[in-house]
Amino acid sequence: MPDELLERLRRFQQDAFPTQRSLFRHLVDEGQHPLTLFIGCSDSRLVPYLLTGTGPGELFLVRNVGAFVPPYDQSKGFHGTAAAIEFAVLNLDVKRIIVCGHSHCGAIRALYGDVPAAAQNLAQWLELGREAVLPVAEPGPEALRRTEQRAIVLQLERLMDYPMVRERVEAGTLTLHGWHYVIEDGEVHVFDVRQGGFVPASQAENAGTGPYLGVDADGELDPSGVPVGT
Ligand SMILES: [Zn+2]
Repeated sequence: MPDELLERLRRFQQDAFPTQRSLFRHLVDEGQHPLTLFIGCSDSRLVPYLLTGTGPGELFLVRNVGAFVPPYDQSKGFHGTAAAIEFAVLNLDVKRIIVCGHSHCGAIRALYGDVPAAAQNLAQWLELGREAVLPVAEPGPEALRRTEQRAIVLQLERLMDYPMVRERVEAGTLTLHGWHYVIEDGEVHVFDVRQGGFVPASQAENAGTGPYLGVDADGELDPSGVPVGT
């Protein structure tokens, strides 16, 4: 039986890598300087590089079930997502943090049902989306979509509990972006504080702003402003 993965590894090195050899050489010599931390759901249908048209060196990527952000204060220990946030902000000095959920998210659906008894870590992890759950027993597609979007805003709020994030957002040197990717449409809906909801990228004015930039009386973003839109 052919070892398909081994074949793919060889194909990458022989065919794909040579076309980007100099780029990788540059990224090794100069180090990585990504401007974006992308926190995405692990779902295989969400492909951050395709969505954003980015390549090597451009996204600092962390993915987990549900695109959740654990609380800063309670994450001490073996927490990959919390560590990635701290590293991206403090060491890499990223300028943007994107939280990207998506349609048909299994993590969000699981919030309305049971997880296998042996999945003790998963059961605990899903609690990070619990506040987004709507009071319906059997959620339809619309309720699930709303839950997915509410969960994204919830994670943006939790990001602001990271002192290094809050500091930079308030100083205007870091922006937060809440994205909901609709797989079947190939379109991201971005969270827009001015509209108080998610707007399709085709109609949005910008790539989305977290709920922690204030909006002044003229509707202009005010980096020192108070939380709005939550
Ligand atoms: Zn998902």
